[in-house]
Amino acid sequence: MSTDSRESDDMDAEEEIWRGAKRRRFSNDTSDDERKSSIKRTKLPDQEEDGKIQPTGAKKRAAISSSSDDEEKSQEKKRRRLTSDPKSKASFSGHSGVWPTGTTSTVSLKRRLLFHQVLGQGSFGKVLLAEDPSTRKHFAVKIMSKVALLANADEVDVMVERRVLQLASGSPFLIHADFAFQTRGFLLLGMEYMSCGDFNTFLLAKGQLNIPSARFYAAELVCGIQHLHSKGVIHRDLKPENILMAGSGHLKISDFGLAIDNMHGDRMATGYAGTPGYMAPEILAGKEYDAGVDWYSFGVILSDMDTSERPDHPTPDDESSGFDNIMTQLLQKDPASRLGVNGNIRQHRFFQRVLWESVESLQVPPPFTFVPPKPPHRALPFHLARLVAAEAKKQPLPSKDQAMFKGFSFVNQETLEQTPAQ
Ligand code: ADP
Ligand code: MG
Repeated sequence: MSTDSRESDDMDAEEEIWRGAKRRRFSNDTSDDERKSSIKRTKLPDQEEDGKIQPTGAKKRAAISSSSDDEEKSQEKKRRRLTSDPKSKASFSGHSGVWPTGTTSTVSLKRRLLFHQVLGQGSFGKVLLAEDPSTRKHFAVKIMSKVALLANADEVDVMVERRVLQLASGSPFLIHADFAFQTRGFLLLGMEYMSCGDFNTFLLAKGQLNIPSARFYAAELVCGIQHLHSKGVIHRDLKPENILMAGSGHLKISDFGLAIDNMHGDRMATGYAGTPGYMAPEILAGKEYDAGVDWYSFGVILSDMDTSERPDHPTPDDESSGFDNIMTQLLQKDPASRLGVNGNIRQHRFFQRVLWESVESLQVPPPFTFVPPKPPHRALPFHLARLVAAEAKKQPLPSKDQAMFKGFSFVNQETLEQTPAQ
């Protein structure tokens, strides 16, 4: 094999690593039959025709926790999110008014970044752990293929994800972005790195939570969700896999890939999007909807906390905690009578003893803390510079396609600054 062909093989393999495997999504292009079967598959076994929802976290997770790795992957596949309706995207993907502040050139950071390990698989590429050696800061970098994004342009709008990641810096309960940049073929979103995995893995490991622990996590999620909604953003894909954990024990909501923005006032959204099992009945029914869909998903997440098993492990305040009641109010089929958008969720009995200002300022001690794994020092055997070199030899994207990603790049000033010595 000549050096040249080996190099080009290496680069193809390298590009494959960046690109990641394209996950199956459901789009408007699917035939009616396919769509029907997709919808059928999305139905929760515990979601009845009349819309009554039974808390089933215990059932669902017991099934997952007793399964092998492969089964776990297939469970995850079943839960893959669905999205459609280009009309809704067209109507809501406009300028949100939230644009970068304090941006500087992204070039030097782009050159410096070292990539350590794969953190997770995204729908349009991988999420990698990266380090800026000059500041020793770590980031989770979500890398997405432009070709794949363009092919699914009627389903996802990466500019919304980028905008939401930027405005998310206003809440400690939302993952925010430190930088975004692009090569000819790829988009890179640099997010704060969450070292302790996702909430789903945590719940699987814990088996069940007691009421005070569930209340702690629920209160942090309420703060994060309300911040998003106050900015006119509906997440649409809230689920334990999209909630990440910091070593400190606090939570952050992540993955704004299906979010929509500009949802202020009485604006209603349309479009089929979310993860089976967490989608509100009005989305499943193809109706218009508002931020209430996130409160429904939050209700399912509460049921995932598995406190339904508490009669075997009673805690003193089970009876009066209001846990069952808040879940019932969140899982209302009719969005008009669902807690969240309607009523003041912070004043619900379940949160009676919560000091919200302390929650907002991270003053409430988490029920669990973690020892974050030490990031490896060895970089992955691929580099952004090599990818850029490989791309240069390929047919460039038409300029009208490249124009879709105009204004994507930014760097927060603090990202480039040295962390003060500890
Ligand atoms: P997708 O939109 O395709 O679901 P996500 O944004 O959820 O992509 O990222 C995929 C996976 O990458 C997550 O499930 C998680 O394991 C990992 N990941 C994403 N963001 C971070 C982060 N900020 N810190 C650590 N891991 C992350
Ligand atoms: Mg995700």
